[in-house]
Amino acid sequence: MPSVHTLRRVVITGGAGFLGSHLCDRFVAEGYEVVCIDNLLTGSVDNIAHLLGHRRFRFVHYDVTNYLYVEGELFAVLHFASPASPKDYQMHPIHTLKVGSLGTHKALGLAKAKGARFLLASTSEVYGDPLVHPQPEEYWGNVNPIGVRGVYDEAKRFAEAMTMAYHRYHGLQTRIARIFNTYGPRMRMDDGRAIPTFIVQALRGEPLTVYGDGRQTRSVCYVDDMVEGLYRLLLSEVVEPVNLGNPDEVSVLQLAEEIRQLVGANSPIVFEPLPQDDPRVRRPDIRRAQELLGWEPTVERREGLLRTIADFRKRLGCC
Ligand code: UDP
Repeated sequence: MPSVHTLRRVVITGGAGFLGSHLCDRFVAEGYEVVCIDNLLTGSVDNIAHLLGHRRFRFVHYDVTNYLYVEGELFAVLHFASPASPKDYQMHPIHTLKVGSLGTHKALGLAKAKGARFLLASTSEVYGDPLVHPQPEEYWGNVNPIGVRGVYDEAKRFAEAMTMAYHRYHGLQTRIARIFNTYGPRMRMDDGRAIPTFIVQALRGEPLTVYGDGRQTRSVCYVDDMVEGLYRLLLSEVVEPVNLGNPDEVSVLQLAEEIRQLVGANSPIVFEPLPQDDPRVRRPDIRRAQELLGWEPTVERREGLLRTIADFRKRLGCC
């Protein structure tokens, strides 16, 4: 019988990233021992600097596409390593494919060796440019495998297939979170995504760059809500994929206007070409998460954006 102590140890790959570092915080706060593994390709030590001296936190600078060895017993492996913004994964297409395929295989192998449960950070991108709206988990998606986003989308689809194979063939306890657009403090200012880009542009009084006509939609979830959903999912017995996101859908143009207003900037909005395969709409159907996890987001967009803007102001040391 493993001791209570050993049952409370988790590995978080990608733990120095935006979402991963918030997860590290949560698990440390819940009393777990956290082993954070990250190669710092898109993550940063700044995100975990406040945890480095903590006796229940350990950082390992390592690329999880290589053989993964961790001493001692583990309760869970949470696989969050991957470039996640379109700019990042298009800049690192082969790393993205490798961490989604080889990295997922290694993380699953570690979970199997330790008898630990496994949680995969999957994505709304498995639905591609969706033809069903909002997207329920039953929808198989509309992905262009050879498009510029295919490196991320197909890596995550492969990762889901690999996760289910370990569940079916090895009886591993697996969880799959399909994560929709999430935002909050610690997002990288230059990750190219809409919210950090608009905030930085507004704070600097520069034009806000809206791609296309800005009528494409996203549904944005504040990071604390996401972490709560992920925590509940890990502790649940739900094997099938679960959408986690905020169904509060907004056009990209409206998002730019809101951020400009909340920052109090006079920046103009300029329109730039729409990137290839940019999904036209995206909104999670979260009934499964509501029914099986008793979870739904609670932070309003205005409040979440204000908290994020405050963090960006602090880090920019300006405005
Ligand atoms: N976008 C934009 N201006 C920017 C960055 C992004 O208009 O400076 C748009 C992008 O084309 C997409 C939406 O905002 O329609 C969300 O993009 P993001 O990169 O945040 O994530 P995605 O949901 O596409 O993965």
